[in-house]
Amino acid sequence: MRLTVIGTGYLGAVHAACMADIGHDVLGVDTDTRKIEALAEGRAPFFEPGLPELLTRHTRKGRLGFTTSLQDAADFADLHFVCVGTPQRPDSLAADLRHVEAVVDGLAPLLTRDSLIVGKSTVPVGTTRALSRRVAARLRPGVDAEVAWNPEFLREGYAVQDTLRPDRLVVGVTSPHADQRLRAVYDSMLSAGVAYVSTDPATAELVKVAANSFLATKISFINAMAEICDAAGADVVTLADALGHDVRIGRRFLSAGLGFGGGCLPKDIRAFLARAEELQVGEAVSFLRQVDRINCRQRRRTVDLARHLLGGTFAGRRVAVLGATFKPGSDDVRDSPALAVTAEIVAEGADVFVHDPEGLDNARAALSGPRYCMDVMEACRDADAVLHLTEWREYRDLDPVKLSEVVRAPRLLDARNALDPAAWRAAGWHVRALGRPAHVPPPGQGDALRVTIPQAAGPTCTAPTPGDPLSGAPK
Ligand code: NAD
Repeated sequence: MRLTVIGTGYLGAVHAACMADIGHDVLGVDTDTRKIEALAEGRAPFFEPGLPELLTRHTRKGRLGFTTSLQDAADFADLHFVCVGTPQRPDSLAADLRHVEAVVDGLAPLLTRDSLIVGKSTVPVGTTRALSRRVAARLRPGVDAEVAWNPEFLREGYAVQDTLRPDRLVVGVTSPHADQRLRAVYDSMLSAGVAYVSTDPATAELVKVAANSFLATKISFINAMAEICDAAGADVVTLADALGHDVRIGRRFLSAGLGFGGGCLPKDIRAFLARAEELQVGEAVSFLRQVDRINCRQRRRTVDLARHLLGGTFAGRRVAVLGATFKPGSDDVRDSPALAVTAEIVAEGADVFVHDPEGLDNARAALSGPRYCMDVMEACRDADAVLHLTEWREYRDLDPVKLSEVVRAPRLLDARNALDPAAWRAAGWHVRALGRPAHVPPPGQGDALRVTIPQAAGPTCTAPTPGDPLSGAPK
């Protein structure tokens, strides 16, 4: 089949390359000339494992092309996937749909054949219906176009495998014809047994925001437990392990720490709150406000614990930060908890050295102030404390003995609860982590010490507040 993918960012570039990989002829479209030039040469404009190989292979074969022209898109195919961004609006919690609207407003008048426009971006429920009206109002006489929604569930870092072998495909359509065309697009996956849920557009739109809301709630739940553990002298990692044995609960997304960030979860739960209020059912999802607040509070608590570890002040202290991206496996620093914490401790006077395996360029562009290091040892040299903020595998493989030889003081804050505290303590490190006791006695030999994290004077982090650097809300 011939199809276009409009918007070639983290979602669209992967979708375009994967659609070519399953045998379609694909044209990717973006307004960003530099991105399109890189993609057309078979280069990935961002880090995503497996993507460069697909881009090289399929651009060489001529099965995958790129353009900045919507006219080219309209000429090329009558099936168009829309993958443009839907960020949080600067003035409210709601999603900013201007990019999605610009695409359909630009594309509809150029269509000369009956077409199917399939949204993949994450949008508020009701968007497909609203866009259908926009499209209908702009079509040439005699041309028909249906808008359908096919939300995407890929995870950055695993985007290629998630797109080629998704755990489910969800399509929201208003006609059997649109359903048949989407089944044809994904035929190879359906033959491989991938679950296919065909429903109305509103349900399809909701599946995505409901899934992200559930995941965000699970993370904030365990982070709330971490706060209780700190106050009670209990251990949130053991608690999570014990909870996770219950198959109804499960252990995944139950890791306490610095919390979630990125270009999806925070803005998606906020947009869901805003849309529910428009639909006059805001009360039903008002718990998401608390989920957002708990998540934001982890950033504040991490800053407070780091300051405490340094003896009450960041001023004049040298701090090594391990990790800048919002999660491992990606170079994406959008609403990165690690960078939010880094920005705060720079503002409080620390001399900060940041290492990240893939995200340094994006981090440097997003935040000036810290120094960025290509080498972990260089970042940690003479550090008064090491903060582990993004759980890249290579940090788990660090040798605490070797690292203790380059730092000024062996103090570690593991804000992801991903390092082995016993191994680090055995190497002489003073280790602190959210939700874990500062000192763990051997089993049966007394209670763990209750942990209090003294807070700095000043406002606590109240997400989502525009202007609060820790909340990640757009300024
Ligand atoms: P992104 O910012 O990386 O990519 C968006 C792209 O759209 C950019 O390259 C931008 O230049 C382009 N664009 C904007 N306006 C355009 C226009 N008028 N015409 C053509 N291109 C235009 O964002 P992303 O992470 O790829 O996310 C895109 C959507 O997918 C969002 O709704 C997001 O919530 C959703 N999503 C993202 C992921 C993810 O992991 N990144 C996963 C699932 C869903």
